[in-house]
Amino acid sequence: MLRSYPFRDTSKIAVLYSPKFGKLGLVAKGARRPKSIFGGSLEPITYIKVTFYHRENRELHTLSQAEVVEPFREVKEDIGLLGYASAACELVLKLTPPESPNPSLFRALSDVLREMERRRKGEVLLWWFELRAAEALGYRPEFGRCVFCGGPLEGASFGFRAEAGGVLCPKCASDGDVLLSPGAVKLLLRLQTLPASRAAGLSTSGPAGEQARGVLRALLSYHTESKELRALDFLRKVAHGP
Ligand SMILES: [Zn+2]
Repeated sequence: MLRSYPFRDTSKIAVLYSPKFGKLGLVAKGARRPKSIFGGSLEPITYIKVTFYHRENRELHTLSQAEVVEPFREVKEDIGLLGYASAACELVLKLTPPESPNPSLFRALSDVLREMERRRKGEVLLWWFELRAAEALGYRPEFGRCVFCGGPLEGASFGFRAEAGGVLCPKCASDGDVLLSPGAVKLLLRLQTLPASRAAGLSTSGPAGEQARGVLRALLSYHTESKELRALDFLRKVAHGP
């Protein structure tokens, strides 16, 4: 369940991401009445099992039953984790067309929420998710060799250019690129290849973390055409004041 919003007098629209249908809009009739059959099952960032009526050629279908499988309680109780988990959901909302299934993206989203819940790590897992989501959606950035000349990454600093699709060797890099040290490239490669459970143990501090953050921001703004995810913007305001 990615998000929900009020609909008509007493109903709600729930937007889900499902392995079989992709992003799906469901009308939950009467969900805002005090004794609704849906109870608390329609909260964002909840793994639910649903029964619904699929209406051909319609954008919204009718929810008939919903049951909570994993509530991700720890995530919801910590404002930092909640912000990063919301950012992951927001990314799926922004980057996927309705009813277009993508099982890899579904798996990445459930893995990231489970690891956030278990390990109580936010930022590094969001980075992991951003790279997995990019791969699942067909624009996996290249961090293993120069994306222009195909040459090895040798030297003290490299460049990253989102529109080129990856990292550039010292010969191919130019002034407008995000600057990367070999340590930052290594961190990004590990994020891209490790499972979420192991990525949760990686450190995001220091200059390598700062550069990796810059790369992910560039990647995100190139593919979402927006400067920042709302959930991350919110976290920054909470941390530093408006
Ligand atoms: Zn090159």
